[in-house]
Amino acid sequence: MMACAWTRWLQVAILCHLAPADRVFRYRSYRETHDFFEDLKRRYPDIVEIWYAQDIFPEILPEKKSWGTCEGEPCKTLIVRIANKRLLTNSTPEVFFSGALHGDERVGPLTVTELAAFLCERYATNEQVRRLVDYRATWIMPMTNAHGYANRRRDENQMDPNRDFPYLQQPDRCMRTQTARAVNELFRRHLFQFMITFHGGMRALTYEWGSRNHMTKKRTRSTEPPDDTAFREVGEAIQAAAGKTLTRRWFYPLGRINDLVYPVEGGMEDWSYAAGWESSPMPITVCRPNTYGGYAEERTKYRHNSISTLVYLAEMDDYKTVPDSKLGHSEEIWSLGVSQGHVPRNLRMCLKLIELTRPEVVVLPPKLPAAVGAGSSISVEVYGFGCHEMSVRLLAVPSSLLLPGCQVEDALQEQVLVRSTKLADMKSTCQGLTLWQEKQHMVALQGSLPAGQLCLLVAAEFDARWAQQSAPDPHGPPRSHAARMRLEERYTAQASDGPMRIESRRTKLFAVHREAINAQAAMASQEPAASSHDALDNEEKVPMPAVQPAKVQIPIPTTAAPASEASSATSTAVALHLSDLKDAPTMDLVAVAAVSFLLSFLVGLALLACRRHEAHSVKANTKDAQTTAELARIVGKSPHVVEL
Ligand SMILES: [Zn+2]
Repeated sequence: MMACAWTRWLQVAILCHLAPADRVFRYRSYRETHDFFEDLKRRYPDIVEIWYAQDIFPEILPEKKSWGTCEGEPCKTLIVRIANKRLLTNSTPEVFFSGALHGDERVGPLTVTELAAFLCERYATNEQVRRLVDYRATWIMPMTNAHGYANRRRDENQMDPNRDFPYLQQPDRCMRTQTARAVNELFRRHLFQFMITFHGGMRALTYEWGSRNHMTKKRTRSTEPPDDTAFREVGEAIQAAAGKTLTRRWFYPLGRINDLVYPVEGGMEDWSYAAGWESSPMPITVCRPNTYGGYAEERTKYRHNSISTLVYLAEMDDYKTVPDSKLGHSEEIWSLGVSQGHVPRNLRMCLKLIELTRPEVVVLPPKLPAAVGAGSSISVEVYGFGCHEMSVRLLAVPSSLLLPGCQVEDALQEQVLVRSTKLADMKSTCQGLTLWQEKQHMVALQGSLPAGQLCLLVAAEFDARWAQQSAPDPHGPPRSHAARMRLEERYTAQASDGPMRIESRRTKLFAVHREAINAQAAMASQEPAASSHDALDNEEKVPMPAVQPAKVQIPIPTTAAPASEASSATSTAVALHLSDLKDAPTMDLVAVAAVSFLLSFLVGLALLACRRHEAHSVKANTKDAQTTAELARIVGKSPHVVEL
C-alpha cells in the first residue's frame, strides 16, 4: 500500500480541483429548469434520468392537445430520478420530492433542483452521498404544477392542484389537473417511503392528519395518525437538519397539518399517506373528472397497501417567493448556521429524508490474518445509517449455510439465525449523515471467534419505538411502508402497476466480510485476531457496500423510458467527469483541457500501478470488489476523512 501513497496525493489534488465552486442560489425560469436537468443528465448519465409525464403517462392527457402554454411552448411535467442505474432493482427504496403544487411558491422548485445537482456533483467524492445515490432512488418533480410555475400562478388553468387529489373530494372535482394526474401515475408505479411537498406562505413543517375527517369531536385539533411516532421522530430529524433561527428556536415549527396549517379536502398529503389502506370511495374518492378529455376512474382505484407514504408538508417561508438575498449559497449546506438561506436548509432536510429511506448498518470490516485461532477476540466497528436507533448483534454463522460472499439466501434466514453463535450485542443511536455535523456514533462489537469455517454477520433491528401509539385514528398498527419494514417480522408490498415491490424483514443481516474465516481450534489463542480500531489505519477502512455483487440485478425500467436511454445503463457508475473542470475559475478552456489530459494520463498510470500492487498482495478481494468500494479504497476515503 505504501508504494501507492503518492497516487492518493494525486487523487486528492484532482478531487479538490474538481470540487464545485461555491454557487449563489438564484431562481430559474421554467425553461432554464428544463435546460438545467437536460445538462445534468448529459453530465451524469449513469445516475440521472428525466422523463416528461405527458409522454410516459399518455392516459393523463387523452385529448393529446396542448393543455397550457409555458413560456411560449406546450407545458410538460418534468420527472427526474437520481439513482445509480447499475444497482437499481425492483426493491430499491424510493423517496419523492414535489417542488411546487402551487406555481407561485417558488423556493421548492429551486431547492429540489439544487438537491439533484448536489447529489450528482458530490457523488464521486463523498462516500455518504454515494450511499444515498447507490442504494436509494430519489424521485423529483421540480415543477409539479408546470403550468402554474411557468405562468407564476398558484393554480393550473384555474384549478387548485392541492384540492385535486382523491381524498374526501367530490368525484367530478378530483384528478382534474395534469399536476395531480402526473403524481397519481407515479404513485401507482412506485412505493415511496417518504415525501416532502414544498409550499410557501408561512413557516411550518407538518405531517398528518390534514383533513376534517381526522379531527377531534370538537373539531379543534387533529387526531393521531397510526404512524404518529414515526412522523414525529422523522419530523424532528429533518427539523434539526433545517437548523435554528437567530433566537435559537427551530427554523420550522413541527406539528400536524390540521393544527399548524388547516384541513383541506382533496389534499395531496392525506391521499399519499392513506390511499393504499383507508376505505374507498370514502375518504379515498374514485374520481370521474371531465377536463382534458377525462381520466379513467380505474386510475384512482389502488392495490391494497400500495400507497402508504410518510409525507411532510413544508411551508418554507411567510413569503411565497422570498427575495434572492434569502436563498443562500451552496457552501452553507455543509454547516448549521442561524442566518442561512432557505435553499441550504431545505436541501439538508431532503438529504436527511433520503438517508432514512433505507435503514442499514455500515460495517467497517477488520483485517484478518490468513489463519486465525478459535477463541481469538475480534472487534468490528459499525454505525447505523438511515435510522434513529438500532439493536445490533455480531453473529458467527457456519459458511455452509450461506451463499458465496457470505450472503444470506432469503428463504434460509430463520435457519441462519437459529444456527448462529452470538458474539456480541448492543443498542445504539444511529450515526446517519455527518455532512453538516461531526456527531459520531460508531460502536465496536467485540467477541471471541468459535472454531469452524465461519462468516461474520451483523443482525440489526431498527427504530422499534415507531410501534408506540396512544390513540391512533383509525385504530390499528402503523401503516406506512417505512414503519412496517422496520417493525414487522416480514413485510411485502406491491405497487398498483408495474414491478416495484417491497420485500423486507424486521431483522436485517449485513456481512462483515465477503470471505469465510477458517478459525482453527489447534491455533487457539488469547491474542486479538483483529480489530477495526487498531489493525487498520484510517486510510484503509472502507465500509462494506450495502449491496453485494451476488444480489445485484439488471435494472428493470420502472417507467417507460425512451429507447435512446437504454444504452447508457451499462456505462460505468463512478466517473470523474472532466466536464466539471469548466467550473475552475482561474483557468481558460485550453489550459483546462491540457491539464485534464495530463492528469487523467497520470492517474491512469497510477491506478494501474496501484491495482497491480494490490492484486499481488490482496488476491482474495480483487474479483468481487465493487466500483464504489474500489474508488473509496483508491482515494483513501472513509467516513473519517474530511470532504475533499
Ligand atoms: Zn401551497
